[in-house]
Amino acid sequence: MIPGIDFFVPAVYFAAAVMFIYGLKGMSSPVTARSGMIWAGVAMLLAVLVTFIHPKVEGNYLLMVIALVSASALAWWWAKVVAMTDMPQMIALYNGMGGGSAAAIAAVELLKLHSGQAQMVPTTLLVASFGAIIGSIAFSGSLIAYAKLQGWMRKSWRFPGQQVFNLLVFAATIGLGVWIFIDGPTPTLLLLFFSLALLAGVLLTVPIGGADMPVVISLYNALTGLAVGFKGYVLEIPALMIAGIVVGAAGTLLTQLMAKAMNRSLTNVLFAGFGKADEDATGAAASGEMRAIDATDAAIQMAYAEKVIIVPGYGLAVAQAQHKIWELTELLTSRGVKVTFAIHPVAGRMPGHMNVLLAEAGVPYDLIYDLEDINAQFPTTDVALVIGANDVVNPAARKDTSSPIYGMPILDVDRARNCIVVKRGQGTGFSGIENLLFFEDNTRMLYGDAQKVAQALISGIKSLG
Ligand code: NDP
Repeated sequence: MIPGIDFFVPAVYFAAAVMFIYGLKGMSSPVTARSGMIWAGVAMLLAVLVTFIHPKVEGNYLLMVIALVSASALAWWWAKVVAMTDMPQMIALYNGMGGGSAAAIAAVELLKLHSGQAQMVPTTLLVASFGAIIGSIAFSGSLIAYAKLQGWMRKSWRFPGQQVFNLLVFAATIGLGVWIFIDGPTPTLLLLFFSLALLAGVLLTVPIGGADMPVVISLYNALTGLAVGFKGYVLEIPALMIAGIVVGAAGTLLTQLMAKAMNRSLTNVLFAGFGKADEDATGAAASGEMRAIDATDAAIQMAYAEKVIIVPGYGLAVAQAQHKIWELTELLTSRGVKVTFAIHPVAGRMPGHMNVLLAEAGVPYDLIYDLEDINAQFPTTDVALVIGANDVVNPAARKDTSSPIYGMPILDVDRARNCIVVKRGQGTGFSGIENLLFFEDNTRMLYGDAQKVAQALISGIKSLG
C-alpha cells in the first residue's frame, strides 16, 4: 500500500465534499451558476480519480476504466446533441441512473453478505436495504417520468383501488426488507425484493397527470440523493455520503418549492395528490371567441405603451426566440418603454428553464421578476406579451373549480390592460387543457412561431421610426 494513503484518500474525499457544497452554493444564483458547475465537476473528477488508489479497490481497474470512458463519452456526446427542449427528459434519465446505481450497489453488497464475502453490522444492513428500496423506486419512477416527458406515454394509467394496491406493494417491499434484515439475504429473496421495489416506482408514477410532473421529477431527484447518501454510508465513503445528502436536501427543498408553485402540499403530493391533475379532465368549456391581431398592430401597441411585461414559456424554448426577445426589449427600452420579464416557477419543462434561456440571451437579472413579485404589477401594465406560455397564464386556475389546475398560482396577465399571446395555433399547453385567457376581451392572439413573430415585431417597431 502507498504510504500515507489512509490519510490521503479521505482527505481528498473531504476536499471534494467541501467543493460540492461550494459548487451548490454557486448554483443558487444565475451569476455564479457556471462557476458552481465547474467546482462541482472538478470535485467529482477528484473523487473518481482518488477511488483508483482507494485501499479497498482491488483488481477491477480495467472494468472501472471501461465503464468510465464509455459512460463519459456517451454523456459528453449526448449533452452536446440534446436539444434544450429535451433537457428535462435527460435530467429525469440521469436522475434514474443515480438511483439505479445506488440500488445496484446495494444488490452487490447484499449478495456479498450472502456469500460470506462481506460482513455488515445491523445498522449497515438496514441502511443498505433502505437505500435499495429508495434507489429502485427512483430508478423505475424516473424511467416512467422520462417516457411521459418524451411523449411516449400520454395517458395516465389508473384502475379502481389503485392507491390500496400501491400501498400493498409498498408494504410487501418493506416486509421483504425486514425479512432480509432478520434472516439475511438470499438470491431469491433479493430478486423478489428488488422486483417489488421497482414495481412500486412504476406504480407510483404511472397515474400521475402531466401537470404534476415538475413535482415528481424533483421528488425523484431528492430520493436519488438520499439513496446515494445511504450507499456512501454502506461503502464508508464520506464524499458519497455528503454529496448524496446534499442532493437529497436540495431536492427536497426543490420539491417543496415546485409543490408550492403547483399549489400542492408536500403531503398531498406524496400520499394523496398523485394523479389528481387528470389529463382526462379538461375543466369547463371556454365560451366566446379568440381574436387575432397581426404583428404590425401588436408592434404599434407595444411601441406606444408605457409599461410592457413579457411572459416567456415553453414555446420560447422550442422556438429559441430568447435572443430576438432581448433585441425587441432593447428596442422598446430605447423608445422609453419600461420592459420587464415575469417568470413562473414551472414555466418551461424544468426548474429555472426560462431563467437559463434569458441569461443565455444576456437579459439582465434585475429585469426578471418572480411570480409573487410581479403579479401586483399587471393591472397597471399596458401590454402583457405572453410568448410561448400557456398553462402558467391560464385564469382557469383562479376561476374554474372543475379545472385540473384549479388553485395553481398563475401569472395574472389577464389583469393587464392588453394581453397579446404569441403561439403557433390553437394547441394546448403541457396539461392539455383549454386556456380561458385566449377568450378574454382584452386578449389578442398573435399566431406564429415565437422567433418569427419576435422578428416581425422588431421590424414593425423599427418601421415606426
Ligand atoms: P405550456 O406547455 O403550457 O405551453 C407552451 C405553449 O407554447 C403551447 O401552448 C404551444 O402552443 C406554444 N408553442 C410551442 N412551440 C411554439 C413555437 N415554436 N412558437 C410559439 N409558441 C409555441 O408551457 P408553459 O411554460 O406555460 O407551462 C409549462 C407546463 O409544463 C406546465 O403545465 C408545467 O406544469 C409543465 N412542466 C413543467 C416542468 C418544469 O419543471 N418547469 C416540468 C414538467 C412539466 P402552439 O402549439 O399553439 O404553438
